[in-house]
Amino acid sequence: MRFNDKLRQLETLYGVYEEVTAELEIACAKGCADCCTRNVVLTTLEGYGLAEHLAAYHQDILATLRADIGSSRFIPKMTTNGLAKICMQGLEPPEESTAPENTRCSILSKSACAAYLFRPFGCRCMVSQSRCTDTGYAEMDDFTVSVNTVFLQFIEHIDTTGCSGNLADVLLFFETEINRRRYRQGHHLCSAQGLISNSPIPVLMIPPKHRNRLEPWIRSIQKKLNP
Ligand code: SF4
Repeated sequence: MRFNDKLRQLETLYGVYEEVTAELEIACAKGCADCCTRNVVLTTLEGYGLAEHLAAYHQDILATLRADIGSSRFIPKMTTNGLAKICMQGLEPPEESTAPENTRCSILSKSACAAYLFRPFGCRCMVSQSRCTDTGYAEMDDFTVSVNTVFLQFIEHIDTTGCSGNLADVLLFFETEINRRRYRQGHHLCSAQGLISNSPIPVLMIPPKHRNRLEPWIRSIQKKLNP
């Protein structure tokens, strides 16, 4: 798939996700940024647009990310589709490290995201039923977790030749135009620090109790991605 088609498909998925979450009761509001930590994970497809935006308008943020690269953050060992594949094979997934607490995302400016329009799905999907300020974490029911998992799987699927990683690692990888160009050209670049290879969807990880409710949304996604 061509790079611009992948970007269009990503926007389509974000649009469908907004429709899905419009049906959920959520407490998230402007200025609420307690879930903005250094533990966000994203694909290279999502990181590409964000990195270009930061390179053009927020060199200071890239400098902070670079200076903070030694700081603790969650670095994934496995992608969502990688996990689905391992579960299908009946194997034991690798143990992920615990996400460090009290870390503040370097893109947060006062209480707002400095690149809100370019925020990755890992930020968009933090839809909480109660104010995180009160609980200290985003509170989601089982169904919302299933919805988020399905979208994570589709986003990874359209970036199958790409990689996933922590926000800081993906953004610093894309800091140079050489890496951005090689990614646009479809080169496999996941040997870079902190990045892991994406995979196509082997099976959607949906618990039986959510299948009927999610079915129309999955059909809608498939139709919009393959018109
Ligand atoms: S990228 Fe933006 S929305 Fe996401 S955690 Fe950072 S500040 Fe928050």
